[in-house]
Amino acid sequence: MKNHAQWEANLFELIRRTSVDLPADVESSLRRALSVEKKGSRARWVLETILSNVEAARKNDAPLCQDTGSLIFRFHVPVGFDTNALAAAARLAVARATRLGYLRQNTIDSLTGEPYQTNVAYGAPVFCFEQCARSTVDVRLLMKGGGCENMGRQYSLPDEAIAAGRDLDGVRRCILDALVQTQGNGCAPGILGVSIGGDRCTGCEHAKEQFLRKLDDRARIRVLARLEQRIVREARTLDIGPMGLGGQTAVLGVKIGALSRLPASFFVSVSYMCWAFRRRGAVLSPSGGMKRWLY
Ligand code: SF4
Repeated sequence: MKNHAQWEANLFELIRRTSVDLPADVESSLRRALSVEKKGSRARWVLETILSNVEAARKNDAPLCQDTGSLIFRFHVPVGFDTNALAAAARLAVARATRLGYLRQNTIDSLTGEPYQTNVAYGAPVFCFEQCARSTVDVRLLMKGGGCENMGRQYSLPDEAIAAGRDLDGVRRCILDALVQTQGNGCAPGILGVSIGGDRCTGCEHAKEQFLRKLDDRARIRVLARLEQRIVREARTLDIGPMGLGGQTAVLGVKIGALSRLPASFFVSVSYMCWAFRRRGAVLSPSGGMKRWLY
């Protein structure tokens, strides 16, 4: 890989944009939610506060939330591309973004409790590389806060406690149960990324992968698209609302995907993303030149 400085500069800019500004689809969804909540309600007040926070972060070039989250990079690269060099450039960009205040020192040594100065450590940031028949590099970044990460759940069906069998109605019960148990914690309104199948590890990864989809898209599999819409409708009736203070808007979207599974297992993995849904991406040339921004 040539031109490390250009790679580092563009990956730094990706982190900066992700940290300080919401994607347009998320902000529009928050504005739509505001328009359906009653005037004078707590739900409306919470959404107004969130939206003024979004505007202030953008204006002041400051992080949207004090928890700048786990950084999850997903790269699609041409076959044979030097992914080690790409990871090295991304680590330098993360360290610089931390020095300049776009990222909090958010990465903690699990044994000592001490923060890493640069947010670069074993397991941080998270990288996922996939080689494909393409000539450009596609990079997408998620910044996922700890409070919403704590609200994720995984179910193993059948689950008698919620009367969930090994079918789509069972999946629906899991998703609604996850939402009811969350009760607005993890900074609702949230977005649910759901994976049906896989194992305990791949199910969770696949659930998070759903966050790369735009809020206004639909699952390609028709029954999943219908289930996504149904759960959004049903979530409105739970009166959980923003931050759990009541109202219609507990979720901004539900995104469901399916993996294959083993005969003995039927996992439903639910990942929860808060309103600070920081997701950005870019397409770059093999030398690191910016071609276009995504989202
Ligand atoms: S859950 Fe999201 S909005 Fe809430 S503190 Fe964490 S990152 Fe911030």
